[in-house]
Amino acid sequence: MIKSIKGFNDILQVATESSRPSAEWRKLETIITQVLDRYGYEQIRLPIVEQTDLFARAIGGATDIVEKEMYSFTDKSNPPTPLTLRPEGTAGAVRAVIEHNLLRGDAPKLWYIGPMFRYERPQKGRYRQFHQLGVECFGSEMADAEAELIAMSYLLWQQLGIDHELTLQINSIGEVEERRAYREALVTYLMDKKSQLDEDSQRRLTSNPLRILDSKEPQTQALLDGAPALTDFLGEKSQAHFATLQSYLKGLGIAFEINPRLVRGLDYYNKTVFEWVTDKLGSQATVCAGGRYDGLIGELKSINKDQAAKSEPAVGFAVGLERLLLLIEAINPFEQISACDVFIAVHPDVYLEGLIYAQELRQSRPDLRIRMASATSLKSQMKKADKSGAVATIIIAQQEIEAGQISVKTMQSGEQNSYAKDWFGSADNDLLPRP
Ligand code: ATP
Ligand code: MG
Repeated sequence: MIKSIKGFNDILQVATESSRPSAEWRKLETIITQVLDRYGYEQIRLPIVEQTDLFARAIGGATDIVEKEMYSFTDKSNPPTPLTLRPEGTAGAVRAVIEHNLLRGDAPKLWYIGPMFRYERPQKGRYRQFHQLGVECFGSEMADAEAELIAMSYLLWQQLGIDHELTLQINSIGEVEERRAYREALVTYLMDKKSQLDEDSQRRLTSNPLRILDSKEPQTQALLDGAPALTDFLGEKSQAHFATLQSYLKGLGIAFEINPRLVRGLDYYNKTVFEWVTDKLGSQATVCAGGRYDGLIGELKSINKDQAAKSEPAVGFAVGLERLLLLIEAINPFEQISACDVFIAVHPDVYLEGLIYAQELRQSRPDLRIRMASATSLKSQMKKADKSGAVATIIIAQQEIEAGQISVKTMQSGEQNSYAKDWFGSADNDLLPRP
């Protein structure tokens, strides 16, 4: 039997073990779009496949994503081009911004939504194809850019009624040189405890020691208690930037925790990193993660041998939409979303009249979701109406046609009344009034 690929989920009209129903996705996307509109951010839609080099350079070679999670392949061109299904959206967004010269003049504030692909062990809240909302704010080196993005994510949580279940963690990881000095101190500290570190962390000691801070192993975390702190290695500028961000967040009334061990699994970040975490989703605790990446644009320009290329500051975040839907389901579920508002049941003998009536009603009441069934017996159509979730069922048979009327059954009470044919689309309709 041909089945879907492990970790690649169907999003159906009904809930499945690994996905919420499509109506919830649409509702979530509508709320997301409204919040982004309120901040004047603009949508972009980018390809799902990019050159492998883009991710290797942008995300960094010694990261989980590039080391073991990418879906890479070569196409049939000659010579074959190494390609990768995008594991995240920032690299592609930056590629597009450079390619289309969008940084000239007023730098853009952009967002996108779509599937991302990572080869990891599927479990609740962790899949191989998953979806992110990504938001990228270009052109500002000031902490107000972070504050705006964090405030925007906070408004989204408020709109979804889940703000009290999410904790904001922030940290500053400084600049490359500051991290270099810190890395040396950290490695020196951990070297003689190497045998007590978990296997992954032992490997990272040479490849990417900062990632050890983020280890989920309790024993490794305990060892880190005595480790030097990154904060002590930050220069004046990094410290001032971090302090300004904190003062903005305090002023905005957005509570935060400073997590000195917060580093991100992608190499491009500098200064601010942040995450919104919850204790309601087990080890898939992070719903939203982001930070500043002032060096990435310059780094990618340099691949194109653009020597005069200067970088441009940028800040962004990504929200895992599957995790967000799981959290909404756990905390403040969407009201049950029915398949339709109105069902129209038509006797097979007058089915064409019913079709025409429905077609006209869909024009005069575009706000209504109107469903019909095939021209089987009225009895079997009424059974379908019962299950449809409709508020009202309009019944049309010979008798209604002759009288120039419709019968309307209120599904909740079972009460049935006759009305003039044009009542349903008119202002007199108090059963399903116009919005
Ligand atoms: P984690 O530590 O959980 O693996 P990450 O650091 O790899 O997360 P990011 O690359 O920062 O995640 O991606 C941003 C967000 O996208 C995450 O916080 C999470 O909500 C979501 N996300 C990442 N990987 C997956 C996945 N495999 N399945 C579902 N959601 C994911
Ligand atoms: Mg990951």
